[in-house]
Amino acid sequence: MKYGRVYNFSAGPAMMPEPVLEEIRDEMLNYKGSGMCVMEMSHRSKVYQEIIDETEKDLRELMGIPDNYKVLFIQGGGTLQFAMVPMNLMKNGVADYIVTGNWSKKAMTEAKKFGKVNVVASSEDKNYSYIPDCSDLPIDDDADYVYICENETIHGTTWQTLPNTKGKVLVSDQSSMFLSRPCNVADYGLIWAGVQKNVGPAGLSIVIIREDLIREDLDPKTPIYMRYDTHAGAGSMYNTPNCWAIYCCGKVFKYLKSIGGLEEMARRNEDKAKVLYDFLDSSEMFHGTVEKEYRSLMNVPFVTGSKEMDAEVVAATKAAGFDNLKGHKSVGGLRASIYNAMPKDGVEALVEFLKKFEAEHK
Ligand SMILES: *Cc1c(COP(=O)(O)O)cnc(C)c1O
Repeated sequence: MKYGRVYNFSAGPAMMPEPVLEEIRDEMLNYKGSGMCVMEMSHRSKVYQEIIDETEKDLRELMGIPDNYKVLFIQGGGTLQFAMVPMNLMKNGVADYIVTGNWSKKAMTEAKKFGKVNVVASSEDKNYSYIPDCSDLPIDDDADYVYICENETIHGTTWQTLPNTKGKVLVSDQSSMFLSRPCNVADYGLIWAGVQKNVGPAGLSIVIIREDLIREDLDPKTPIYMRYDTHAGAGSMYNTPNCWAIYCCGKVFKYLKSIGGLEEMARRNEDKAKVLYDFLDSSEMFHGTVEKEYRSLMNVPFVTGSKEMDAEVVAATKAAGFDNLKGHKSVGGLRASIYNAMPKDGVEALVEFLKKFEAEHK
């Protein structure tokens, strides 16, 4: 690794592609002859308008976002979306939530403040180690939407088949898998993602919303910032946006386009995750915690079966230059987050290290 950087397995904020960081470095003091850094720029300037316009255009190209969807850049992180979704989408005051881990549970709990919430499926019975069968759920006739978290960052599960919503609008939290593989946007009413997991710096969420779901007839007490129509009507510039994070995301979108788009990214992610999963399947010491079918390509939790040994492995990996491998407390053990920007070399080096550790601790 160049610059004394480490393989950083953090769940988020997380690694960014090195060529992107280098480009940002090169533009830091004087962005394309503007005489200033993007951090110093007025968001109302022509030069910044070009940055945000191009960022949106590149994202639309990458994901093939249909024209009847708006792309919004909103601050407040993922947690704000837990509230914004029900505040804006609950027309009948009813929503169905599928709870597959901590993040969908938090979203569901927040939504309860705004209306009637049904948990129509859950995998809590097995500590969220699988995705329940969602082919025939008791969807409420009055449900305004069905909500999922498409990749549970903590538990390491991913949806392979989207739920059958029986015609209701699907809302998906894609934070920890955004742009990791191709996505058919038309299958969803709303997709949102906090960018600090798989794209860029913290402080920005991207919301992709079908235009007919953007309502104006909201509770008049709804804070102006928390209305999708505010952001949609102002090109995400009603107030000062997170200019810097938008610029950095724009760089990542260009980088993804340059390597061949989301098909190529998905191929690399599958190839990379296979290295780690193949090891876990053959190891006697380390075991994945998720049912095979639902394994995430992004977040890979694994355990030794002994808390003491888990702690010893975490300490040893850190000393060897692999950072942030400690698992979340609700799963324990270790978790390797291997997002888009983690090179295959990083996963191979980690596996080599774990093999050696296992051999030495037989
Ligand atoms: C991190 C994360 C969130 C919360 O994001 P914040 O920006 O910290 O509020 C929500 N959903 C998923 C899937 C996440 O990984």
